[in-house]
Amino acid sequence: MTPHTAPHKNVYRFIAGQADGNGTMKDLLGGKGAGLAEMTLAGLPVPPGFTITTAVCQRYYAAGNQLPADVWEEVLSALREVEAAVGKRFGDASNPLLVSVRSGAKFSMPGMMDTVLNLGLNHTTVQGLIAQTGNERFARDAHRRFIQMFGRIVLGVPGERFDHALEAMKAGRGVRLDTELTAADLQNLVTQFEAIVERETGQPFPADPYEQLRLAICAVFNSWYGKRAVDYRRLNKIPDDLGTAVNVVAMVFGNMGEDSGTGVAFTRNPATGEPVLFGEYLPNAQGEDVVAGIRTPEKLDALRERMPAVYEQFREVAARLERHYRDVQDLEFTIERGKLWMLQTRNAKRTGAAAVRIAVDLVKEGIISREEAILRVEPYHLDQLLHPMVDPKAETTVLGKGLPASPGAAAGAVVFDPDVAEKRAQGGERVILIRTETSPEDFHGMVAAQGILTARGGLTSHAAVVARGMGKPCIAGCSDLRLDAEGMHLGGRTLREGDFITLDGTTGRILLGDLPLVEPETGADFETFMRWVDDARQMRVRTNADTPHDAQVARRFGAEGIGLCRTEHMFFEGDRIDTVRQMIMVSGAYQRLTAALGKVNADLERLKGDAEKVAALEAERAALEAELEAPARLFKGALEALLPMQRADFVGIFEAMDGLPVTIRLLDPPLHEFLPHTDEEIEALAGKLSLPVADVRARVMALREHNPMLGHRGCRLGIAYPEITEMQARAIFEAAVEVTRRGITVLPEVMVPLVGDVNELRAQESIIRRVADEVQQATGVTFTYLVGTMIELPRAALTADKIATVAEFFSFGTNDLTQTTFGFSRDDAGTFLPMYVERKILADDPFQVLDREGVGELLRIGTQKGRAARPTLKVGICGEHGGEPSSVAFCHELGFDYVSCSPYRVPIARLAAAQAALRQRSQ
Ligand code: PEP
Ligand code: MG
Repeated sequence: MTPHTAPHKNVYRFIAGQADGNGTMKDLLGGKGAGLAEMTLAGLPVPPGFTITTAVCQRYYAAGNQLPADVWEEVLSALREVEAAVGKRFGDASNPLLVSVRSGAKFSMPGMMDTVLNLGLNHTTVQGLIAQTGNERFARDAHRRFIQMFGRIVLGVPGERFDHALEAMKAGRGVRLDTELTAADLQNLVTQFEAIVERETGQPFPADPYEQLRLAICAVFNSWYGKRAVDYRRLNKIPDDLGTAVNVVAMVFGNMGEDSGTGVAFTRNPATGEPVLFGEYLPNAQGEDVVAGIRTPEKLDALRERMPAVYEQFREVAARLERHYRDVQDLEFTIERGKLWMLQTRNAKRTGAAAVRIAVDLVKEGIISREEAILRVEPYHLDQLLHPMVDPKAETTVLGKGLPASPGAAAGAVVFDPDVAEKRAQGGERVILIRTETSPEDFHGMVAAQGILTARGGLTSHAAVVARGMGKPCIAGCSDLRLDAEGMHLGGRTLREGDFITLDGTTGRILLGDLPLVEPETGADFETFMRWVDDARQMRVRTNADTPHDAQVARRFGAEGIGLCRTEHMFFEGDRIDTVRQMIMVSGAYQRLTAALGKVNADLERLKGDAEKVAALEAERAALEAELEAPARLFKGALEALLPMQRADFVGIFEAMDGLPVTIRLLDPPLHEFLPHTDEEIEALAGKLSLPVADVRARVMALREHNPMLGHRGCRLGIAYPEITEMQARAIFEAAVEVTRRGITVLPEVMVPLVGDVNELRAQESIIRRVADEVQQATGVTFTYLVGTMIELPRAALTADKIATVAEFFSFGTNDLTQTTFGFSRDDAGTFLPMYVERKILADDPFQVLDREGVGELLRIGTQKGRAARPTLKVGICGEHGGEPSSVAFCHELGFDYVSCSPYRVPIARLAAAQAALRQRSQ
């Protein structure tokens, strides 16, 4: 073989121990081609062949789907060398060379393009194959298989046409298995298959082996833009412009008798990671028999019994390849008349459980370093490991798809009402709550349900955020789902209350029926692995948790504090919502009258000398005071009632987080979210609070907003109702005193939401600090605390230097920051964002993967300006991005102190933070 020197080589040979390429050249040769070259160089038994590069694929498309002439010349010259190596000639009547043609992209894309085997056969060369093998039946079978495969894959003839003819032949002969057909039967099938091709394509089957080869190569290139391949790439985020390589390899036959066969194997069990050779073997068969599931393969042990020496050789080759690649290998092999041939090696795909075990074992075996082990496990692997999954063996019917809003699987009876969900769950039933969208009022139903499905809403919708917090599967924004009085309509079916479905929140698939689930397992390997992860990372990982239970779960998952405690969720606990509603009902009158009274008092001060005016003002004051009496009593009474409840909440959370920081955010949502909406609910509330129905309805109407997400929410509430801020601050600090007295270490961080101007923060900060002083003075107990803010509006990021003069910490609320930067509503973007991603207007849903260019720039500016003004400023993130690996990596690059995410994502964030630190170190 002549060494390659040409600058633009199109074809890379691997022939008899020599290869133009090697294992590192996956970009150019694809995974399969690189593996074949590497195995050839390593002296392993690989049938000779060559790889046409991915660069040719790009040229092919650039030339309008034409194979360039110079490429064809190189193909022919490589083919000559293969002929020489095996001592056969392509297209030769007496001693023909047959080849396989297979695609091979940089990333394996299963199902993109099948293999064409036995290429080079026609009515002349088949005679040569009979002569070579002395086995006419084998040769006829190879011929009919070739026409069948080539017809289906290269010429696009529907596969059933051939299958029907084959079945009819078997029925006619009264046999069950293909292997029972005779040479004459198979020859007859060849004739029938050729007729099928001619009928379907209007052309005779191409007899010229060179024409066959050219067509097959072009078909592989064409398949790169086939629907299956495009869909697969979209799903797996593989770029379209990589292109595929084509591998042309001399055929070896696994179907030449009982001393032949074919198989696939993994060097370790890809489901569990157990370090044993694991695979399947089919004696006397060709590759497609295994893949097509036509015959049931045997375990690899069967090979050991049939051919111990070959098995031993294969075991050695497998072990060598694993050591060589320093990772578990996925192997394809064929045995032809007792001789082993390797057809493929690649890093094996594996489950989450296997990924962790393999990484830990390979370190213990001295094959890889701890750092490599950390980089080998994908963050999504851990997601798999921590949630139940649909049993991979279960048969599934997919009803539809939505956004994978919270991972894991759940099965149960469908219910459409949170009260029904609660009732059925109390009766011991497993239920799935289905809603158009959820709101805080549905919370009890979500708690009761195994999983949640919504027709509307995106990845930061209420349903998504709450479900993730609870570690429950959730599929949001399933736009095909229709709900009406009858039940739900999806995938052409109607399901009524009580019918069963299964949600796969990891993929967003909605499946019919009550499917079996498999529980996650984390064992000693997981613990070991996570210890290494923690040693490698620099950023801290906190959790978003609103209850002591969630806090404990998160702590078990390794959370190092709470980065966001959303206090509004506490307002829905038990029957406190009635107290909250009482407060809101009277808050309008209270606020109006207090303001009026303030004005009268100011006027009185100003007009002290004017007796006449003073008298009138005093009368006005008395009237106002009388009018204010009832609303003030009810408003303050509600706050007083809420204070001990909130205090108890914080005590529970401080206990769970003993010694760790806890960031508590003041009330954020607009008040109308706490109020009822339907007439019935309004009447019920009026009854409970002994208020006229008309008054309640009027207040509900008054609080209604067109854009509540941009309305009276966040710190704007605390500024309008400083009493609420005061009550919350008091609850926090009194709880701190209570647990401090019990020897618990508390580190409260009070966080003000939705600040856009430093003056907003200043106004809230003064209340918080005053209350802290009062509580410390009254109790004699001192504690340390911080006051900081969320940065979730562009203006806050742009004026971060000013805000940092007051704030001791920043926590980027990237849910709202994404909403306000893009101008995409968090709740409604689900209606068009999937289309944006589909059409590549955006690479990802920005509510899921942080948009580095826009939102990320605001993070960068905010951090730089904030730290410039206050070098000790603590910076973190608590939007949903805090648990998304690439966003976590970005936070590391910006030098954040911590990320905060829902409890079940904590291990993922820990791993992502460690990987980001290691990647930065190796740059
Ligand atoms: C955010 O906006 O990113 C955030 C964490 O707050 P919330 O989701 O509660 O608005
Ligand atoms: Mg927010």
